[in-house]
Amino acid sequence: MFVDKVRITVIGGRGGDGAVAFHREKYVASGGPDGGDGGHGGSVILRVNDNMSTLLDFRYKRKYTAQAGVNGLGRKMAGKRGENLIIEVPRGTVVRDVETNQIIVDMSTGEDFIIAKGGRGGWGNAHYATPTRQVPRFAKAGLKGQERDIILELKLLADVGLVGFPNVGKSTLLSVTSNARPKIANYHFTTLFPNLGVIYVDEGVSFVMADIPGIIEGAAEGAGLGHDFLRHIDRCRLLVHVVDVSGSEGRDPVEDFHAICEELHNYSIDLGDRPMIVAANKVDLLMPESDNLERLRAAVEEAGCELYEISAGTTQGTRNLMRVVAEKLRTLPPVTIYEPEYVEVIEAPADPSAFEIEHYGNTWLITGTWLERMVQNINFDDYESRNHFDMQLRKVGLFQRLEELGIQDGDTVDIYDLEFEYQR
Ligand code: GDP
Ligand code: MG
Repeated sequence: MFVDKVRITVIGGRGGDGAVAFHREKYVASGGPDGGDGGHGGSVILRVNDNMSTLLDFRYKRKYTAQAGVNGLGRKMAGKRGENLIIEVPRGTVVRDVETNQIIVDMSTGEDFIIAKGGRGGWGNAHYATPTRQVPRFAKAGLKGQERDIILELKLLADVGLVGFPNVGKSTLLSVTSNARPKIANYHFTTLFPNLGVIYVDEGVSFVMADIPGIIEGAAEGAGLGHDFLRHIDRCRLLVHVVDVSGSEGRDPVEDFHAICEELHNYSIDLGDRPMIVAANKVDLLMPESDNLERLRAAVEEAGCELYEISAGTTQGTRNLMRVVAEKLRTLPPVTIYEPEYVEVIEAPADPSAFEIEHYGNTWLITGTWLERMVQNINFDDYESRNHFDMQLRKVGLFQRLEELGIQDGDTVDIYDLEFEYQR
C-alpha cells in the first residue's frame, strides 16, 4: 500500500501548573512563598528520515501529543519538562494547514521543524513575590500546548522522473543504472511505491532518479490512483519519457508518446512544459522491417525533444543516456523547495465575555483560550505583532472591564506569559 497524503492532528504537551506553597521550618513562624514553576510541555517536532518513502505509518495513527510538563512543587522545586515528540517523515513531505491549505513547511532541507509548541509551565507563587506583594497566594496554571490539524503530502525530491506506459521498461532502466532495486515484472501495476535511485555518472557527478507508479497503470485499473501519482514528479527538474519502441505489447509507440504528453499537460501546464528527454527502449526487440523508430523520432522532434535509443534489458545505450541526462541537469535550476505561505493570525472573538479576570491584591490574572493561543503566537519583538495584540485587547473590551473593576495605575496585569504594569 502506498500512502502519500494524510491528515493528522499534532498537539504540544500541556505546561505543568505552578505551585502555591510557603516555606515551613521548625521554629520559623512564617516563611516566604516557595511554590516552584511548572515544567514546559514537550513540543511536536517533524524530522526527515531518508529511509522512509511513504506516509504509510500515519495511516492508522492520527493524533500525536507530546508529553505534558510536570506541576511545580514546594521548596521552589520546578516540575520536569515534558519530552518532545519526534515525528519522522520522508524527505520531500510538504506540510499544509487543513483550514487554509497553505504550506507551513516543506520538509526537504533536513532541518527539524517545530510543528506544535508545548505549553509554557505556569509560574509558582515564589515567582510573584515582590517587595509590595510578599505573600502571593496564587500561582499560574500551565498553558495548553499548540494544537494543529495538518496535511502531510509527499512530493518526492528527485532530479529526474521516469514517465511512460506500464511495461515499457522504466523500472528496468532505473535498476540497471542505479543502486535501486525496483520490482520488475512483465505485468502491469508492478510499481506501487516510488523508487528512488542514485545514479553515479562520474566522480562527483550524480543525480537522483524516481520511478513512480504510472499514470495510466492505476487509472486503467480503476484503482483511483491516476493523476495523484504525478505529484511525485511535480518537482523533478527533468523527465525521461520511456517508450517501448518495439511495440512489443501491440501498442503504437507514437500514440503512447502523445498520450503521456497529454496526461502531463492535463495534470498541469507546468509539468507539461517540463524539460523532457525521450528514451526509445527495447531496440533489441525491434523488427528490421519496422518503421517505429523513424516515426517516433519524427514525433519527438516535432515536440521539440531529443530521442535516445536504448535497451534497458541489455543495457545498450543506457550509460550514454545517463551522461546526457547529467549534462542536461547542469543547465537546469535546482529542485523546487516550497516557501511557507502560512501565517497564523489570531483574532479576539466578538463575545465580550471571552475572558476571565481574577484579582489578587494589585495583581490581575486574565485568562481565555484564545488569549492563550494569541500570547503564544505573538512575537513581542515585532512592532506590528504587538500592535495587533493591543488592538485585539481593546476590541474585546479588556481594559474597559479592568477599569470597571477598579484597576489602579501601577497594578500588574498578567496574561499568561505576559506581565506588564497597567497605565491608563
Ligand atoms: P515498467 O512497468 O515500465 O517499470 O517496466 P519494467 O521495467 O517492469 O519492464 C517490463 C518488462 O519489459 C519486463 O519483463 C522487462 O524485463 C522487460 N524489458 C524492459 N526493458 C527491456 C528491453 O530493453 N528489452 C527487452 N527485451 N525487454 C525489456
Ligand atoms: Mg515499473
